[in-house]
Amino acid sequence: MKATLYQDRKNTEIKSQNNCNFPSPDNAAFQNFPEERKGKNASFSLVSDKKGKDKKEENKKGKEEEKMLLLSCCAPCSCAVICDLAKKNIPFAVLFYNPNIAPFEEYQKRKEENKRLCDTLKVEFIELPYETEQWFEKTKGLEKEPERGRRCAACFELRLRRAARYAKENGFGKISSVLGVSRHKDFNQVTQIGRQIGEEENIPYLETNWRKGGLENLRHALIKEYQMYEQTYCGCPFSKR
Ligand code: SF4
Repeated sequence: MKATLYQDRKNTEIKSQNNCNFPSPDNAAFQNFPEERKGKNASFSLVSDKKGKDKKEENKKGKEEEKMLLLSCCAPCSCAVICDLAKKNIPFAVLFYNPNIAPFEEYQKRKEENKRLCDTLKVEFIELPYETEQWFEKTKGLEKEPERGRRCAACFELRLRRAARYAKENGFGKISSVLGVSRHKDFNQVTQIGRQIGEEENIPYLETNWRKGGLENLRHALIKEYQMYEQTYCGCPFSKR
């Protein structure tokens, strides 16, 4: 499949197409959930509405320096992590930077589902441009590599480096990702690349194994309960089984 199929849609201003929200978090999976994150119209102080310069300055101060940027690939992989961090009132934002996902309609679908969850839990959701040319350039010659191979390593590196740079430019104190949550992924591969990029970009990469601590069970419960859209392939055209 050629990159040109997606190029005309890169950097498109994307508007929400899905007006449906997750139910308010008042079920079993959300037990002990902070009150301020419940209810559709509730506000949450860790979520900043400020943009640009103001936001950068604010982020440099106090607690905001501890704020984590969590790179997410989709709602099914990230739901339990987002839920757990929100429940613990840990300051964080979700970053959606996935130029690997194709076609564009599929990208939109996964993004909307992820945003839906964040909106419900009052978690900041940041989307970066759909830079497919960079992704195809980075993985050139690796099209036939198996999942967990060198193409995936290149894919992780591109996305994590972009996340690290965005985090630094916007006052976040650390980064992490859910790229190793799926059983189809090599957790150690993701962690090793995250650690290396953290060192190179001078921002700590949190190496938590999000499959542990009951999060795998919570993940399955949330997917089922909210009838979450679950994709049948990782994301790139070469991962279609
Ligand atoms: S299989 Fe998934 S992780 Fe690997 S290159 Fe494709 S989109 Fe990236």
